[in-house]
Amino acid sequence: MSAPLNGCRECACDFTSLRLFDAHRVGVNAYTYSESVAMEPMREDGRRCLGADEMLERGWARNDKGRWFDPEESERARARFCAAGVAPEGTREPQEGPAGVGLSRP
Ligand SMILES: [Zn+2]
Repeated sequence: MSAPLNGCRECACDFTSLRLFDAHRVGVNAYTYSESVAMEPMREDGRRCLGADEMLERGWARNDKGRWFDPEESERARARFCAAGVAPEGTREPQEGPAGVGLSRP
């Protein structure tokens, strides 16, 4: 196993991005889920981690290293990469070059 990237000590899940790590922590209260369950009367609104089934529901998937990633986010990242001017080979117009070389004017 490789070292966790954005590992969660609570649920032992690992995430490819910090955004996803943050997103798997749900609940708005200062106390944790286990603390809220221990309350009298018992509550279930403390901060907790999403379960694997809930993360799958959100469309997340696990890569070959067992890390959770968001396919939609990966797609957006790829789009940004392309927009940055990194076009696939063969689609770029030649901007400059040895224009006219080898051509003789009539
Ligand atoms: Zn977690």
